[in-house]
Amino acid sequence: MSVSTVSTAADRPVRAPLPVLGRDVTVPLVTGGEVVHAALDYAASAPALQRVWDDVAAYAPHYGSVHRGAGHLSRLSTDLFEDARRTVAEFLGCRLEGGGGRGEGDQVVFTRSTTDSLNLLAAALPDGCEVFVFETEHHAALLPWRNARVTCLDAPSSPRQAVETLERALADRHPHGPALVCVTGASNVTGELWPVRELAAAAHAHGARIVLDAAQLAPHRPVSVRELDVDWVALSGHKLYAPFGSGVLAGRADWLREAEPYLAGGGASRRVTRREDGTVDVEWHDGAARHEAGSPNVIGVHALASACRALTEAGFDTLAAREEQLIRTVRDGLADLPEVRFLSLFGDDAPRVGVLSFVVAGWDGSHFAAALSAEYGIGVRDGLFCAHPLVRGLLGGGPRDRGECGAPGTVPGEKALGAVRVSFGVGTPDEHVERFVRAVRELVRDGARWSYRTVDGRCVPDASR
Ligand code: PMP
Repeated sequence: MSVSTVSTAADRPVRAPLPVLGRDVTVPLVTGGEVVHAALDYAASAPALQRVWDDVAAYAPHYGSVHRGAGHLSRLSTDLFEDARRTVAEFLGCRLEGGGGRGEGDQVVFTRSTTDSLNLLAAALPDGCEVFVFETEHHAALLPWRNARVTCLDAPSSPRQAVETLERALADRHPHGPALVCVTGASNVTGELWPVRELAAAAHAHGARIVLDAAQLAPHRPVSVRELDVDWVALSGHKLYAPFGSGVLAGRADWLREAEPYLAGGGASRRVTRREDGTVDVEWHDGAARHEAGSPNVIGVHALASACRALTEAGFDTLAAREEQLIRTVRDGLADLPEVRFLSLFGDDAPRVGVLSFVVAGWDGSHFAAALSAEYGIGVRDGLFCAHPLVRGLLGGGPRDRGECGAPGTVPGEKALGAVRVSFGVGTPDEHVERFVRAVRELVRDGARWSYRTVDGRCVPDASR
């Protein structure tokens, strides 16, 4: 479905803690008319904060190269880039120089995304490093450790069991070699919060380090490297209301300093010479620049810093309390529908961020999501959410290959082929969540009003109807 017009939806007051772009965008309904788009897929990519956009727009005319030019705008851009590093360090509670009894402070390395950050760390693992991950992780946290011995831990059924499982696995490992635990702060499938502090304590007690995948946590809760006592944290700007292609890996400097540069090129090298024998000799930087070769994404980094400031000023307590209300609206609004089953590892009442996945008896997830979009103007995600082992486990068996959509028709109680995920955040007005609840109720009760078919693996409204 394509966006048809952009209008000022003056008739519809939008109440959300922080204004975001796209709040007035309308989309056509397959059944006729238009509606303001309800973006309920924040867990995939959140809309830009208006404030982020304004800050980017204010800077854009002054754009210049970073670390590379003598001109005024280059110097201004370099200052902005390094200011952003300080803002992000503060936002993430990084340890100052000499902090944590480790003799040196944390480092903030700018990357493209969480995936990029975790791949950077994977490329910096010391020889012989063992890696421990839960099978519940997003693929970005599950897969980068290709050069390490990876132990994939069973999905826990409670936060306590997560800690016990990790402790058992670490107790069995070779005690003196380097080890890394990679864990998510909030699941991109269930939204559930993981016991990061306790897992960090368990890792450290067994001589291992820990990296926190905060892709889903940072947009919803404060993340402090210092308070959680994690060694690194990774996040993405596009989930943090700053969709301009930046990400972060923040934390301990030593493994990063000792590793080969992630990318080889300008900016990472301090001094390059051609030897007599015709080979090239390089002296690499040992700060963050070592892993930031190439011209930095100053707009993306400036946007990320702007989002950090906006979220901090709004206050995570306030934001989380509002989000709790929205979660309750969804849960209470659908509680009496036996056809709707929410996916959860730790139980329905476990603390979570505004990310909820569910299956609907008799519906394929892609069909349900297509109907939400085409008939109600609601954007959600369906499928296995780049966390295949977790979602397969929660669905109760391996989903079959996708077939034709067009159900209902499958028998209630039959295994779903994929789940539906609804997610929201600081720009979500109540109306979007209320419309979602109403839409789910109507679809479950009355079925879809349109027919759908599968095109290129996606369920879409049948234009020939
Ligand atoms: N970890 C989690 C928990 C995620 O939800 C995602 C994105 N869905 C990622 C990592 C990867 O983030 P990105 O695609 O921005 O690299």
